[in-house]
Amino acid sequence: MQMVDFEFRNEIFKEDFSLNYCYQCGTCSSSCPVAFITSGDYNPRKIIEESLLGFKDLLIKDQKPNVWLCCTCQMCVEECPQNVILTDIFEKIKNKIVQLGEPYPEAFKVQAKAVIENALAISLTPSITRRREQLGLPNIESADINEIKKLLGATDFEKKIKLNGGK
Ligand code: SF4
Ligand code: SF4
Repeated sequence: MQMVDFEFRNEIFKEDFSLNYCYQCGTCSSSCPVAFITSGDYNPRKIIEESLLGFKDLLIKDQKPNVWLCCTCQMCVEECPQNVILTDIFEKIKNKIVQLGEPYPEAFKVQAKAVIENALAISLTPSITRRREQLGLPNIESADINEIKKLLGATDFEKKIKLNGGK
């Protein structure tokens, strides 16, 4: 049986009060491309419902539905008749998963390491650079790596992402 965790629910409310306006119409799920290609296994409406009910274990431990599958396309946010900012709520849930040392997908760790090392989430490879030149796209300027390291150091970012195994 799922236990309601009021503290967790309040934390999400505090992060984004728009959660409170959801009336479970399901428009988000019907407009979600990930829900479509997973035949409904991934379901943003359900994540919002579990957040409203404070089902922390389902969201954080079991990860059902798996919030990491969201590709942040923002389609659900565009379509929601109640202006629920689903992606902000999902971000809070993802942060909580990492914070509590629960497993999260290896791909996100790889991307985080790329930011630490290159100040870019997707490192520029010679083939990417060549392709951009062929397409006449401008050079990509990365942020000052020392500034990035300072910021990430101040938030203990590196330590946090080493806490968990992949999933
Ligand atoms: S579209 Fe908005 S109101 Fe409808 S279920 Fe999704 S989050 Fe809730
Ligand atoms: S932002 Fe995430 S949940 Fe919303 S439609 Fe895109 S993939 Fe689906």
